[in-house]
Amino acid sequence: MDKIVALCKRRGFIFPSSEIYGGLGSTYDYGHYGVLLKTNVKNEWWRAMVQERDDIVALDSAILQHPRVWEASGHLAGFTDPMVDCRTCKARFRADHIGELQCPQKPSRHPGEGPDCDLTEARDFNLMFETTVGPVKDSGSIAYLRPETAQGIFINFKNVLQFSRKKPPFGIAQVGKSFRNEITPGNFVFRTREFEQMEMEFFVPPTEADTWYRYWIEQRERWYTELGIRPDHLKIRPHDEDELSHYSSGTSDVEYLFPIGWSELEGIANRGSFDLTRHAEFSGEKLEYFDQATGERYVPHVIEPAAGADRATLAFLVDAYDEEEVAGEQRTLLRLHPRLAPVKVAVLPLVRKDGQPELAGEVHAALRGRMHTEYDEGGSVGKRYRRQDEIGTPWCVTIDHQSIEDRTVTLRDRDTLAQERVAIDELPDLIATRLAADWTSPKIG
Ligand code: ATP
Repeated sequence: MDKIVALCKRRGFIFPSSEIYGGLGSTYDYGHYGVLLKTNVKNEWWRAMVQERDDIVALDSAILQHPRVWEASGHLAGFTDPMVDCRTCKARFRADHIGELQCPQKPSRHPGEGPDCDLTEARDFNLMFETTVGPVKDSGSIAYLRPETAQGIFINFKNVLQFSRKKPPFGIAQVGKSFRNEITPGNFVFRTREFEQMEMEFFVPPTEADTWYRYWIEQRERWYTELGIRPDHLKIRPHDEDELSHYSSGTSDVEYLFPIGWSELEGIANRGSFDLTRHAEFSGEKLEYFDQATGERYVPHVIEPAAGADRATLAFLVDAYDEEEVAGEQRTLLRLHPRLAPVKVAVLPLVRKDGQPELAGEVHAALRGRMHTEYDEGGSVGKRYRRQDEIGTPWCVTIDHQSIEDRTVTLRDRDTLAQERVAIDELPDLIATRLAADWTSPKIG
């Protein structure tokens, strides 16, 4: 993980937030390449959820919602983690994570195991961030930053049903920021207090819930592997009976083998009719579906694949990271799926004279309208290749003296290091075709 964090900082993917003020525990800012990478992850999610399907529509609901939403959802009463304090060092820990945490005074031990540790009893701590709406701070102005995007979907069920011309089975997808006042955030962007979620609620006739639950587990697992995650680093872990939320009749996590061990990337839950029933009860609105064909009226059941955009980005980074020796030199690279790579092509003139920068500028202009492209003429070409390898650019185009004579360039492949001579006029279509093709990580086998 240290190597990933260092690369992210060195190449400007992700860095600690408020750094010039000493940072604010576990908040991070995404720099240029980080934004491009995370945007690609979210775009691939939208592609799979909405663009390539007819049965899911998009939504962007507000972060601030009516406080009753969180009463109905159960978050106000029950969205808590057990917390313990150490009376000696004043540190706080999540009681159910003690076995994975270090004692701040004696890092070789877990909290509670050091000679001076003095832990309190565990007590429930609500993870929702509270704020006030409007100029007067009183109990009537309290609102919460949403701890998940899902509730924004449930409260819009009626709107969407009315305007989207969909009927169950159909889904509503949303991507956006969520906030949780985590007791022990950490492991880089794996667990932060402000993060982005990609959630989809799929509304189905009750009798079909189990079939759709299994369908979505398979779809979501496939999404990660098709985007390059090595299958042996991914697994589905069904929750044990005692882990299930009271309303869930089944939940499975997609887990990834992070450097910190197997950890949740995404949860897929069969939530039954809990959410719509509760919001109907608390709002007084009927949240159900009337099937005109059969005359049947029912509250749809919900299957929810809930993923984290930051955690997914971290998993793609970890899975792509590679080091190898080439001709006696160490090379660090990100073997990212080309569709996830922040930059698809780098255009590099071999020298800064003889008409090469001008021709390279022309090639850059021809490519940039179709894909994210970077122009770089500074430093030795070897150094420029290494820089592109580290940010995961799948192809580099080099313009040399021959290019001026016959309008061909060298196309270098990040993974195989193979170089081929390609006509400039054919370059945009060739790269677009490769970008659309299936891709398997060279780290497999
Ligand atoms: P965990 O058990 O890790 O706290 P969770 O089961 O509470 O996660 P969900 O409520 O199911 O998580 O949220 C769905 C997804 O949102 C998670 O699988 C994860 O990818 C992401 N997520 C949740 N909490 C955080 C966080 N604090 N930081 C980053 N991503 C998060």
